[in-house]
Amino acid sequence: MGETVSARPLPTRSARQHTLRQSISCVGIGLHTGLRIRLALHPAAENSGILFRRVDLDGRTIPGRFDHVIDTRLSTVIGDPANPALRVATIEHLMAALSATGIDNVLIDVDGPELPVLDGSAADFVFLLDCAGLAEQAAPRAAIDVLRPVRVTDGDAFAELRPAREPGLALAMSIAFPAAAIGEQSFTARLDRRSFRDEIANCRTFTLRQEIEALHAAGLARGGSLDNAVVVDGAAILNPSGLRRPDEFVRHKMVDAVGDLYLAGATLNGVFTGHKSGHALNNRLLRTLFAEAGNWRFQTRTLRPQPLRAAA
Ligand SMILES: [Zn+2]
Repeated sequence: MGETVSARPLPTRSARQHTLRQSISCVGIGLHTGLRIRLALHPAAENSGILFRRVDLDGRTIPGRFDHVIDTRLSTVIGDPANPALRVATIEHLMAALSATGIDNVLIDVDGPELPVLDGSAADFVFLLDCAGLAEQAAPRAAIDVLRPVRVTDGDAFAELRPAREPGLALAMSIAFPAAAIGEQSFTARLDRRSFRDEIANCRTFTLRQEIEALHAAGLARGGSLDNAVVVDGAAILNPSGLRRPDEFVRHKMVDAVGDLYLAGATLNGVFTGHKSGHALNNRLLRTLFAEAGNWRFQTRTLRPQPLRAAA
């Protein structure tokens, strides 16, 4: 249903780090500021991770990591608590595309306080990354094993991570909304390049019609439109072209979780379960995971077999 499908074969998950083959940029509207924002993605050195750079603020940088998240109310926002101007909002859909594409190192230039929202999904970011291409680097890729179950709750909402028997991240998400157009939905997936592209990448962010007035009164969602969000009014979808999938809402929540969890700083080996989980719980989950050394460990794949040793 309208996904961007790469003509190139999808490489198998590699043991080495990857960056972009070349720089690529785009211009789009910021969902909350309504500003025209330029985004440019550049190759970066191995072990440098994901770094955001505010080119309009003397090139000040913010690491794309969970411990630099300063706000999670409407989107995931990274920044410097001591300098309120130094922030980048709505990073989650790009983070999800980077995670699913297997990009470890990238420098992300942005000339405003939020990323362009594009069509409200991760599909356009996947397209940008495909256009730039991937470059393999020499350093081995790290992953983070979840060793003990961790769980965070907020009322009846929760998010948890459990150890996995096999490598990679498996996700289960469920939501429940009074709006009849959404209702109760659940979706499970094992994260890989193909499942992300084929099953969730093009699922858009959504909002309730009655919330739009409050957002506008607060000076937010100035760039929001039916071109970049699904708008729900009770049982009705206000977008003339309707939904991309009947359960687009829960699938979008999974895109958000994939992006938020990639702020761990490496891919996770674990099982994520979220119920009504959004940016706030997703971030609290990572903070809880990393708060205790026994909850997790770094795992780096061995690139070359060890030389055989003669038996003693
Ligand atoms: Zn989202």
